[in-house]
Amino acid sequence: MNATKKIVFTLFQPATLALIVLFWAFAPASLLDKAWIITAISIGTLVLVQALEFINERHTGWRLDRREFLTDLFYVGLYFAVIAKLETKLAEEPLASAKQALGITTVWAMHLPFVAQVALALFVMEFGQYWLHRLMHNSFLWWTHAPHHHITQLNAAKGLVGNPLELFLVSLSVIAVFDLPLNAVFCAYNLTGAIAAFAHANVRFYTPRWYSYLFTTVEPHSLHHTVGFNETRCNYANALILCDRMFGTFRQGEASVVGQEERKRLLISQQFMFPFRPLMAMIRGNQDKSAPPV
Ligand SMILES: [Zn+2]
Ligand SMILES: [Zn+2]
Repeated sequence: MNATKKIVFTLFQPATLALIVLFWAFAPASLLDKAWIITAISIGTLVLVQALEFINERHTGWRLDRREFLTDLFYVGLYFAVIAKLETKLAEEPLASAKQALGITTVWAMHLPFVAQVALALFVMEFGQYWLHRLMHNSFLWWTHAPHHHITQLNAAKGLVGNPLELFLVSLSVIAVFDLPLNAVFCAYNLTGAIAAFAHANVRFYTPRWYSYLFTTVEPHSLHHTVGFNETRCNYANALILCDRMFGTFRQGEASVVGQEERKRLLISQQFMFPFRPLMAMIRGNQDKSAPPV
């Protein structure tokens, strides 16, 4: 192992997060009303992490081919062009209006140091996402989340591959209830995106122990994607694996073989139609044998 390569792949994850924090800490106010900047940083991070897969690959079985690349590209477009915008219109803006109408204020949050504001935003976002994701593995909501688990390999953009309804639900957050400066919220948003990209990437990182104690990495997240439905009920956190440690669902280890239902890869049309499977099975008058024991 080349020593420089070892250093780069040890420091890459923490250094990227530090750069994102620095960028937003010192971002000029003129950038804050430009929605494209957050999208540009998110997509830039995805491209960068994807490129790393060709420099220090984790598993040859996860290597990106044309079919996987085009599917990932479709979902990146869908997420940033449609789902993120729907999220703003249907969830964040109504929540911000309700907060104003009800006179809810958390002015104290505006006086915290920037790093504490980012940490607060990150925790609020992740806390909600953790419980919703956990609920998805333990209720009928599995039908929306299962397509994400039918992916048969992990790559940088795979965090965005799934049923659109699930992608919308899992991005919901109550962060709009808090009075926080826009740059702290944008920073937390960019951090979760970068960490999710690292956690899905086919990259062999040599992660520092403190980093993997706090943040989700590919080891616990690949275990979450392992074959067998019951085995997926661990390591739910999107970015803060600390949530799993706090709520007793952390499991050590990793998996190289991922997927569900005998690793059946779904087409995009099948990913879109997946939540209707129970309904279609009911119409056909028979039990869907693929139903998991939720
Ligand atoms: Zn899951
Ligand atoms: Zn995942």
